[in-house]
Amino acid sequence: MAVGREGNGSVEELDAVVVGAGFAGLYMLHRLRQAGFASTVLESADDVGGTWYWNRYPGARCDIPTTDYTYSFDAELEAEWTWSEKYAAQPEILSYLQYVARKYDFRPDIRFSTRVASAAWDDAASRWTIKTDAGDRLSCRWYIMATGCLSLPKEPDILGAERFAGEVYYTSRWPHEGVDFSGKRVAVIGTGSSGIQSIPLIAKEASQLLVFQRTPNFSMPAHNGPAPTDRLKQLAEDRDAYRENARRSAAGVTMPIPVETVAMLSEDDRRRRFEEAWEEGELLAFGARFADLLANREANETISEMFRQKIREMVDDPKTAEALCPTDYPIMTKRMCLDTDYYATFNQPHVRLVNLRKHPISTITESSIDTIDESFEVDAIVYATGFDAMTGALVSVDVTGRHGLTLKRKWAHGPHTYLGLMTVGFPNLFMITGPGSPSVLSNMAVSIEQHVDWVADCLAHLRDRGLERIEPTHTAETGWDQHVHDCADITLFPVANSWYMGANVPGKPRVFLPYVGGVDVYRATCEEVVERGYLGFQLSGPAGTQCNDGVIRRVQPDVFAVLNAMAELDLPLLETLSPAEARALTTELNAARPPGPEVGEIVDGELPGPAGHLEYRLYRPPTAPGPHPIVVYFHGGGWVLGDKQSDEPLCRDLCVRADAVVVSVDYRHAPEHRFPAAADDAFAAVKWVAAHVQELGGIPGELAVAGWSAGGNLAAVACQRARDAGGPDLVGQVLLTPLTDYDMTRSSYVENADGYILTAGLMKWFWDHYADPAVRADPRVSPLRAGDLSALPPALVVTCEFDPLRDEGIAYAKALEADGVQVRLITARGHTHTSPTMVGVVLSGASIRAEVAGALRQFFAAAVQA
Ligand SMILES: Cc1cc2nc3c(=O)[nH]c(=O)nc-3n(C[C@H](O)[C@H](O)[C@H](O)COP(=O)(O)OP(=O)(O)OC[C@H]3O[C@@H](n4cnc5c(N)ncnc54)[C@H](O)[C@@H]3O)c2cc1C
Repeated sequence: MAVGREGNGSVEELDAVVVGAGFAGLYMLHRLRQAGFASTVLESADDVGGTWYWNRYPGARCDIPTTDYTYSFDAELEAEWTWSEKYAAQPEILSYLQYVARKYDFRPDIRFSTRVASAAWDDAASRWTIKTDAGDRLSCRWYIMATGCLSLPKEPDILGAERFAGEVYYTSRWPHEGVDFSGKRVAVIGTGSSGIQSIPLIAKEASQLLVFQRTPNFSMPAHNGPAPTDRLKQLAEDRDAYRENARRSAAGVTMPIPVETVAMLSEDDRRRRFEEAWEEGELLAFGARFADLLANREANETISEMFRQKIREMVDDPKTAEALCPTDYPIMTKRMCLDTDYYATFNQPHVRLVNLRKHPISTITESSIDTIDESFEVDAIVYATGFDAMTGALVSVDVTGRHGLTLKRKWAHGPHTYLGLMTVGFPNLFMITGPGSPSVLSNMAVSIEQHVDWVADCLAHLRDRGLERIEPTHTAETGWDQHVHDCADITLFPVANSWYMGANVPGKPRVFLPYVGGVDVYRATCEEVVERGYLGFQLSGPAGTQCNDGVIRRVQPDVFAVLNAMAELDLPLLETLSPAEARALTTELNAARPPGPEVGEIVDGELPGPAGHLEYRLYRPPTAPGPHPIVVYFHGGGWVLGDKQSDEPLCRDLCVRADAVVVSVDYRHAPEHRFPAAADDAFAAVKWVAAHVQELGGIPGELAVAGWSAGGNLAAVACQRARDAGGPDLVGQVLLTPLTDYDMTRSSYVENADGYILTAGLMKWFWDHYADPAVRADPRVSPLRAGDLSALPPALVVTCEFDPLRDEGIAYAKALEADGVQVRLITARGHTHTSPTMVGVVLSGASIRAEVAGALRQFFAAAVQA
């Protein structure tokens, strides 16, 4: 290590400075040393341990089984250490980290009792200058903040708190010598995990215990005891496979992936699964049994209520039980807690719950905590008020990046990161488990190792190539921010006022902080970034500059999952099959879909077509008794595939959302019946429905058409033909990713030729089956080619970003508008040709379908006004 002089103080020149000596900082030091980087760790505590150094309150223990919440980087270390319990207590985890520090002789490279006060980037030198509160200055190429997601305690902001003359304790800064509460009147403020773990033990000593609760939490018995034998057995049999499975799992702990939604289970099965999860005593147990717990409010409420029943059974006093029942957020959207005898503690005569929702604290005095209607004399106050999570410790250091930008200012409205690892404007600054990474939603031991490994490999890569600087690009960071929010938006997480949302800290922006896409998906994404030449990073140094700019995840997260699942099925390309084979395959795939929402009634019927009867299926809304507006719907399938029920989930969804009767009409298919058979049938069906509105339960004058893909084509064509024929009158047209033109050279065809289910090859196959090249410019198959689009019904056109048909849909919307038709165009970001129709599978499509239904309602409302 070179030591130079600068100004009045010495400046240590290092390759890397790591802040924090918890799980993350220790392993980071290990990897940096192994790679030969001159490194120092700075830590404000006087020993290693991080979380497990500071949180010494009674009952402090982990809530991920310690078989899994452990380092996995060294088999020898694993062989040497045996955990005594399923959930080890704080002293044991601290001993473990101290053991690790001794084993690898970390302490000589850690400067304890040293707080990092500031870090400033020197752009000319491509180095960071770190200042500590002791006035030390260090200069380093790589600055790594392993400062912890839950390390900056949240200050209690209660009027008069500083006046209290009795004993004051913070669970997150517990005295090393312990506290004896015997015979004392104690107040615990806060009922998050730390409060819930400590309350039963404090109650054992205190003469009186008051628990001040603002928000009740869902807590379940940990059933702590010896380490689970099944896990120990698996580890003994094949440790590497066990660890690798955890790394490739959704939360960093191997758990079964549930298939059944709550609604799919019978009452008995639900109860059985619930009781199993309860007995298992693991945070992830519920998510492993109910597929839609974090996606479906109703499903969540069913399980939440079962949980509340348990609380009512355990707590004797009904009023206290009710106050302990969480009711205003879905279960699991705040971190759930594991406890030992928490609820039973409230049955003890000297323990009392004070519900701050009803009786807020007005002030703390020298000797009491006063609510608006009562004064409680206490000897000691324990603050279990949580943390300024995920961003707190990062922005509490005065970090200044390029052009004087501070991290605090950049993140004033919420953090922006690329992969939760780096942030634009702060080159060479890495965060371990930063916001935008799975972090607190996972087994953090797994996530920490993954981040540290990524950073260490990255630094070695840069050094090997003569590069000394790395920074994400704006494009990559903006794309990642978007992806992080897209992932959260399809869950119930944003509903809760949780610390995941920053909601526990007054003034903190309300933004979902971690990445909920899963540890497995996230790891694969980080690996892909590297494989694609550090996609989204600018790398530079004496050896030159390289930047492979781009966004790593552009499709919606659930669409991405569907595409992956489809790829795993390894299905033949439809265009390589005969029409009969393709039909059989799509029918088989369709059978596996969720059915869509319940409708009031489904009726099958027949209507006369130009060349024989056409079948239809009618969906009536659940809202009795009608009449309702009617939508004539045409299914997709490139004029070759599908039938009246092939788009059933979508039809049900539209029926319920738009509160309209949906008549899904079959039509003749190619190649048996080529152009213009489908178009003729579609128009005939519209005419027939218009003539039978009342018999079908419809409202005269409230008839619209809709269709998806080739069905969108037929709907558009039917509107043109109705206009030209002088009727029937249609109040609106909904064209979902419609086929409007035969030109297959537009950009969207080129960009999305392969990979998104509907390929350019498949479109060619459809066209070839349906229409000869000579007739393809006919507006009855290419409605965009109609010379005049005026006087057509108002339209909603939905196009999807990753769809070969995107540009022709947009072109049709523009052409309609140019000819004076009222048009609304939705360009669905991150969606494919098929994804918005995947009801119950692609949740991000729900908002699109809600807009479609809204448009239909508007069409009908406008018709009524007219
Ligand atoms: C009570 C409790 C129980 C938990 N249980 C679990 C569990 O069961 N499973 C799980 O996955 N996770 C759990 N966690 C989360 C836990 O924080 C992580 O698992 C893990 O310990 C984090 O390690 P870390 O090294 O990233 O951060 P930390 O352990 O928080 O270490 C960060 C260190 O950085 C130091 N530091 C911060 N800022 C500065 C600065 N400016 N200057 C100098 N030093 C600084 C801090 O003093 C601290 O020692 C729990 C957290 C708490 C609070």
